[in-house]
Amino acid sequence: MKGICILGATGSIGVSTLDVVARHSDKYKVIALTANTNIDVLYEQCIAHTPEYVVVVNEEKAELFKQKIKNSAVSDTKVMSGAKSLEIVSTLDNVDSVMAAIVGAAGLLSSLAAAKAGKTVLLANKESLVMSGDIFMQAVRESGAKLLPIDSEHNAIFQCMPAGYVAGNDVKEARRILLTASGGPFRETPVEELHDVTVAQAVAHPKWSMGRKISVDSATMMNKGLELIEACLLFNMSPDDIQVVIHKQSIIHSMVDYVDGTVLAQMGNPDMRVPIAHAMAWPDRFESGVEPLNIFDVKQMDFAEPSLERFPCLRLAYEAIKAGGIMPTVLNAANEIAVDEFLNERIKFTDISVVIEQCMSNFSADKADSLEHILDADKQARDQSYKIIKEMS
Ligand code: NAD
Ligand code: MG
Repeated sequence: MKGICILGATGSIGVSTLDVVARHSDKYKVIALTANTNIDVLYEQCIAHTPEYVVVVNEEKAELFKQKIKNSAVSDTKVMSGAKSLEIVSTLDNVDSVMAAIVGAAGLLSSLAAAKAGKTVLLANKESLVMSGDIFMQAVRESGAKLLPIDSEHNAIFQCMPAGYVAGNDVKEARRILLTASGGPFRETPVEELHDVTVAQAVAHPKWSMGRKISVDSATMMNKGLELIEACLLFNMSPDDIQVVIHKQSIIHSMVDYVDGTVLAQMGNPDMRVPIAHAMAWPDRFESGVEPLNIFDVKQMDFAEPSLERFPCLRLAYEAIKAGGIMPTVLNAANEIAVDEFLNERIKFTDISVVIEQCMSNFSADKADSLEHILDADKQARDQSYKIIKEMS
């Protein structure tokens, strides 16, 4: 029986994880669940999974949550609040696996704490890896943590790696990664119309149902940019050896091209429970609840090169990883601010890449030599981004 802590339990990945956990209650016991503010969903999850601990980051909501459980079946649950509590629950002795599914930089310290504590880290929170790069990978190596990617593409690549593959290691026979992308909702929208796309249009992903931030990232293809950086770190690859491929059917979730000419692909219906169940059962397999892929329904698979003019965010991600140092941290921070401002209808969709590019131009790619340095770059880039947005309007 393994103990699991789910960081970001109330989000899209968190909910899918609990769906998989419920199918395997003989193998997994929920030790801790965390949420930022959504105490109604969290309450239902507590009733269903009876965790020992709950973190509600928002203090007011945590108080309301305590009231809510007072005379309930889960009145014994220990309720904590504040961001620091995320690190406490992700390093508890009876926690074996940590699902890192908080969105954005808010997940960095708890994901990193799990890695430092030598846990099995099921990593959905790609922003934490993009921000902290080598520091994260070094923490994994030093503690002996197991790092298993949840992002569907990276999970696919991991599955296409040789048996016994350890994240971060170099596979010299793997000459290229083909990182697939759906292309998002604006794959074919005339470029001149992108200026006026609405929030509702941007978050309506054609293939995947996800949180709002990652949905916008998919629409700008910054999601693929962050994934490019994530892949460089997880698979010890140069960005020049990673080709982004638009595959609009989202049946193949990525491929590895080997020196002998073999190309291995992982396929499946686009449902995050596939990579989640893979990582939870690894190195075995168990059921995910996802419908089997009906190959006769697929009929056709298309592959195309993305246009960096249509998707400037993808170009910026290539530039950031090639520059190295703190530049991926800056890219991520500027993107988080720009996406948030877009979601709040304060900037246009096409302003997102403009803000990021201007912000990056204000930084040099200093070596990211400590966590403090990274957190400082993150903060400075956020301040810069707000300033740029203010000057725009
Ligand atoms: P979401 O918005 O649905 O959920 C986010 C979760 O994080 C919620 O539980 C929320 O309570 C928590 N959270 C938000 N802000 C927080 C804060 N400041 N402090 C603590 N907790 C906070 O997001 P999601 O779609 O589930 O994505 C989660 C992560 O997984 C992201 O990094 C995303 O890139 C990655 N991911 C998601 C998918 C997907 O299909 N949804 C696929 C691949 C990767
Ligand atoms: Mg992905």
